[in-house]
Amino acid sequence: MSLVARGMAGVVVFMGLGMAAAQQPITLHVDLRDAPKKILHAVEEIPVTPGANTLVFPKWIPGEHMPSGPIDDMAGFFLTANGEPVKWQRDPIDMFAFHFNVPAGVTTLEAKMDFLATPNGGSFTAGGSTSANLAMLSWNTLVLYPQGTKSADVMVTPSVTLPDGWRYGTALTPTSAGPSQSIDFSTVSLEQLIDSPVLTGRFFREIPLAPDVTPKHFLDMAADGPEDLNISEQHIDDFSKLVRETGALYKSRHYSSYHFLVTLSDQVLHFGLEHHQSSDDRVEPTTFVTDDKFTLDGDLLPHEFTHSWNGKYRRPIGLVTPNYQEPMIGDGLWVYEGLTEYLGDVLATRCGIWTPQQYRDRLAGIAATYNLRPGRTWRNLQDTARMAQILYTTGGPFDNWRRGTDFYDEGELVWLDVDTTIRKLTDGKKSLNDFAGSFEGLGGNTGPKVVPYTFDDVVAALTAVVPYDWAGFLRFRLDTNRPEAPLGGLENGGWKLVYKDQPSEWSTLEESESGSVDFWYSLGLHVGPQGNVGDVLHGGMADKAGFGPGMKIIAVNNREYDPNVLRAAIIDAKGSTQPIEFIVENTGYFKILKLDYHEGEKFPVLERIAGTPDRLDDILKPMTK
Ligand SMILES: [Zn+2]
Repeated sequence: MSLVARGMAGVVVFMGLGMAAAQQPITLHVDLRDAPKKILHAVEEIPVTPGANTLVFPKWIPGEHMPSGPIDDMAGFFLTANGEPVKWQRDPIDMFAFHFNVPAGVTTLEAKMDFLATPNGGSFTAGGSTSANLAMLSWNTLVLYPQGTKSADVMVTPSVTLPDGWRYGTALTPTSAGPSQSIDFSTVSLEQLIDSPVLTGRFFREIPLAPDVTPKHFLDMAADGPEDLNISEQHIDDFSKLVRETGALYKSRHYSSYHFLVTLSDQVLHFGLEHHQSSDDRVEPTTFVTDDKFTLDGDLLPHEFTHSWNGKYRRPIGLVTPNYQEPMIGDGLWVYEGLTEYLGDVLATRCGIWTPQQYRDRLAGIAATYNLRPGRTWRNLQDTARMAQILYTTGGPFDNWRRGTDFYDEGELVWLDVDTTIRKLTDGKKSLNDFAGSFEGLGGNTGPKVVPYTFDDVVAALTAVVPYDWAGFLRFRLDTNRPEAPLGGLENGGWKLVYKDQPSEWSTLEESESGSVDFWYSLGLHVGPQGNVGDVLHGGMADKAGFGPGMKIIAVNNREYDPNVLRAAIIDAKGSTQPIEFIVENTGYFKILKLDYHEGEKFPVLERIAGTPDRLDDILKPMTK
């Protein structure tokens, strides 16, 4: 058998494969005992056939949607055959490929390598993953596989050695009996292996969720101290309800068990990464024991869990690749991430993590942010998805003009628009719940597998719920360059975006976490607690007056800068015709800038449109008792 692979010059060539690779599993042992020293060790035994061979290191990482495999943190890479060194040479074009010759008579090659788990600015799984008392093992950081193979066909028998006394959680199935620091796991495909990270730590707790539901669900937590594991019964109930709500919404499950792998630590990078049968959820240490943090991060687990259906099981065709070297096409990310953002937020409310008021306050912030997105006039939403592989590593100043991974939050607005449109067209008889049940539940309960879809499949599934020009509806929101955000979902939902002079409870919560005050909707300025200008609305009042990112506000109306001083100046200016005067420092030079602004403070909130049905309220109602 031969498979299609890309040659060095990017030309498609056919290459023969060592058949042994398909017949006999690779064994991969990872030693995590040095994880507290920020170095992980792996030994891999790979069946080979003599002659020219190439091994590759995973480059395009599922869920990260970009070529982010941390090849720069690979070290101590040695190949041996029957105890003799085998000389390797890196491909001159593809830095993730290693060429070598296997001597006659050799059937197994041993590869040793280390992963340097030193935080170096890498994103997602390339970021910090260990501390003195915990580690998150992402297998893609410590595995090589034969070039040109399909990740679903390459079989791997994994095992780990943990530091003394550490416990673990994973979607992999252990085969070793009894408690031990060396754990063998069942043989799985490379695809399943990389999709099944291992969370381990000294301070570890596993809680079964929704025990009435099959398959089984677990909340696995590792923290830097035992006190951060004391999650309340109320929050455990919220997560159990989340499990039940997903069953009602998606009418299916596509896993044999599900593990929320939650790292509660400031020593690791904070993010969420979805997997089919688990999720890698990394948050601040006290997220589960302080109410404000629990609320602010309330969407993380519902979002990553939703990906088990939307992203892992159902996946845009461009993100379905035969292995980790083939480039991904991000065009469908407005469904993969946008729909997940929408449904995840709705689920966070349906299961009780958020109140409907918190959901609406947060939605008001999203609507207002994206309604002041001048970058939409040159880059449409579709382009943010296509360029995701680069936009994930951008952000910060001028993001409102460049745009970033807007397919998440603007995608959420689009899907709210779809949901309320279905409800309107059917007089409340149908909703996006029906789409979610049929689209994500296609084929009923299954094990983990991928069912790809195209844009036309999405349109067909929506049309099956209610006939409408869904292709035109979606393409207009994806392809046009109108300056306004797609806010039709708010209006169809019975609400409108307005600005008040007091921040919502949600905005206050965000401000207290970040320490900065939001002057975005009044002055078009993001200002940090010390006066540093984080961003300026392109074409806005502050931009026109001469403000730029990186400047520092020294004084407001001749008083030393403090967020409350600026706040008071904005309030005072409402009753006067005098401009607000700033002393601003820019790379060692000072100047005076004036803003002729008299409209007072502005914070986004949602307001009911009287006499219209409150469809938003219907959307947020739980589907289970
Ligand atoms: Zn996501």
